[in-house]
Order: sequence, then structure tokens, then C-alpha cells
Amino acid sequence: MITVLRLGHRPSRDKRVTTHVGLVARTFGASGMVITTRDDELAARIAGVNGRFGGSFTVKYERNWKKFISSFEGIVVHLTMYGERLPDVAGRIDRDRDMLIVVGAEKVPKEVYSMAHYNVSVGNQPHSEIAALAIFLDRITGAAWERAEGGGRMKIIPSARGKRVEDSG
Ligand code: SAM
Repeated sequence: MITVLRLGHRPSRDKRVTTHVGLVARTFGASGMVITTRDDELAARIAGVNGRFGGSFTVKYERNWKKFISSFEGIVVHLTMYGERLPDVAGRIDRDRDMLIVVGAEKVPKEVYSMAHYNVSVGNQPHSEIAALAIFLDRITGAAWERAEGGGRMKIIPSARGKRVEDSG
């Protein structure tokens, strides 16, 4: 099982980005996201997507991120542009164990670098937690999203043009 820990979410400023972290996590193979600031609106938005498109992706609130990371039973991966390069480290990460993927918003507290089993960079340029998470999940799951079925009442029928959606609800 893969969980994403979104550090430093500020509901007023990061609404969109954290929602996208959750949607990307949900689509590309994680089971849930943990945020460290309560945001019921965000949790409701993601629950709405589950309701329409399927799945049981969870959004949970944990005030104490240090305790959450240190008590996590599995592999902790921190995505940071300062880390080891993804292609160099991907083969060493045990994919059979539960995984916690930590992504930041602003500056990530320095303890995270020592608490993580792996600090992983997706290129050594600054970009985005959304992009880093998508690429990391794609790589670490062997692109499992390509074979996944949503299972919800709304089903998009891929089309060369236009929008085709089946709604069984
Ligand atoms: N200056 C910030 C720092 O000290 O980490 C960068 C903040 S960046 C806008 C937000 C998050 O995006 C980071 O905490 C990290 O999780 C992710 N991120 C950005 N660039 C990355 C990269 N090249 N590789 C991996 N993760 C990256």
C-alpha cells in the first residue's frame, strides 16, 4: 500500500495544489493521502471524485507528522530535488513493503531528510510536488495505472474527438 504525506499544506494558499497531489496520488496508485493541517473541504472534494469515478482513496489528517513518519511501518521516501537520482535509486527500493511518499509545499524541515529511508530527486531542478509524485509513482509501480479500472458510476470512453461519458448512476 502506498500513502502520500503532504507536508505543509496551507488551506488558503495550497488548495489547488494539494487537491492535485491527492488526485495524482489516487490515479497513479496510492491508497491515501495524509495532510498535516485539517481541511475538510479538500477531503470532501476527493471523496466526491471517488463517488463519481470509483475507488476508496482516503484523505486523513495527522497533526504530528514526526510521529506519523517515525511510526510508519514500511519504506519512507522523501521526494526532493536534492536527493539521489530516481534512476539510480529505484532498483534499491523494496516495492513489496508499504511505502510512505513525503512531498513538501514550501521548505521541508531538515529532519525529514534523515527520517526518510530514501531522499529521491526526479531531476535535480526545482519543479513541482505534483510532477515529482506522478513520475515517481509511474516508475515505482511499473505504470500500473495503465491497466487500472476506475470502477465508479462515471466511465469515460476514450475518444479521438469530443467527450464520451457513461453514467450508470
Ligand atoms: N525549495 C523547496 C525545498 O526546499 O524543498 C522546494 C519546494 S517545491 C515547490 C515543493 C515540493 O516539490 C518539494 O518539497 C518536493 O517534494 C517536490 N519537488 C520539487 N522539485 C523536485 C524534484 N526535482 N525532485 C523531487 N521532488 C521535487
